[in-house]
Amino acid sequence: MNMGGMTMNCQICSSEELIHVASLGHHALPDVFVTPDEAAEPFTVYPLDFYVCGKCWLAQIGYRVDPALLFRDFVYTTESNPASKPHFERLVKSLVERFQLGRQDLAVDLASNDGTLLEQYGEDVRVLGVDPSSTTSRAIAKGLPTIVDFFTEATAKQILATYQPAKVITTMNAFAHIKELDAFMDGVVTLLAEDGVFVTESHHLQNVIAKMQYDLIHHEHLRFYSLKPLMVLFDRYGLEIFDVEETETQGGSILVYAGRAGVRPVSANVGRLLAQETAAGLYAIDTYEAWAARLVQSKQRLMSLLYELKSQGASIAGIGASAKGNTIVNYCGIRPDVLDYITDGSELKQGKLAPGSLIPVTADQELLDRQPEYALVLTSNLKDIIIRKLRGKGYQGKFIVTGDVPSVE
Ligand SMILES: [Zn+2]
Repeated sequence: MNMGGMTMNCQICSSEELIHVASLGHHALPDVFVTPDEAAEPFTVYPLDFYVCGKCWLAQIGYRVDPALLFRDFVYTTESNPASKPHFERLVKSLVERFQLGRQDLAVDLASNDGTLLEQYGEDVRVLGVDPSSTTSRAIAKGLPTIVDFFTEATAKQILATYQPAKVITTMNAFAHIKELDAFMDGVVTLLAEDGVFVTESHHLQNVIAKMQYDLIHHEHLRFYSLKPLMVLFDRYGLEIFDVEETETQGGSILVYAGRAGVRPVSANVGRLLAQETAAGLYAIDTYEAWAARLVQSKQRLMSLLYELKSQGASIAGIGASAKGNTIVNYCGIRPDVLDYITDGSELKQGKLAPGSLIPVTADQELLDRQPEYALVLTSNLKDIIIRKLRGKGYQGKFIVTGDVPSVE
């Protein structure tokens, strides 16, 4: 589509047939928290628009923020998510068995973060991590070989000067966040052994659509994957998806296995998931038109509920000052007159104000001490884990969960 002389192209197939699905407004950068001293300062906001490609069906955001700005204060560590370690432990065990990895084989993790995945290989396999973020200092402290840089063809060549081609390359929950996708894929095909396997896990678009998980749409999450557009992407690099699994990660993800075309038989799981996605309407424009209308209704219903509760004098706190929470708060226009504060486990956010809304961020303990009547869960895909945890710690009020219709439980 044409945007005042600027042409926007699909992030995978470069087509100009991008269909605008919904605008979620203009948002401050989701991981840049504001100190109370800075509260009166102006801040930059960026358009947050959801598109789908009419040619390859990749769902994607429009305006892409410069990663140098976006990840300036990036603080997420894999260790901070308790579900990661057991999940990676199972995955690595299955990779070692299924692809018969031995001591001489190389396994590379891209966006290796604090090394939680690579650690699971133990002494069985040679390992190497690549990640540009400061979280790698934890991996290096654990003795895991790590290259602190973006991954491109040049990085792959640098690795091949010392190591043999990789039997396994993994990228877990980061494949949708990479801005320079082609440079990254050039690196993957350069580094991958002839019989090597490229394994990615990404949140599944079907859940955004079916479960109204619109909070997954934020400036760090550039693409929302389903199988068809991934096949288009991989095909361009001579790769083929030979297996896929649905996982519980992030409230519903797809674990995709790709290798060089023709090397491995293609599992029936691939056709089965494609049929499921087609039945769910992911490859038909009507689905997205209906979703956009549902999105507006979801916002109206949530705000009606929150204003009604406030008019009755209720106290309401928010749970989770993540990038996802920022989308809910700023898309719906929730301000400090509705939410007294937002709790978050990260000490780096506590004592600051949430981006855009300027709602104070406090420790989780605040919720338990003050026992507000309602707690609005600001991360829809992790709601079950959050509710179980806070109930276990003694929160006695009611939870409000976003969706097509907000639920109170
Ligand atoms: Zn496309």
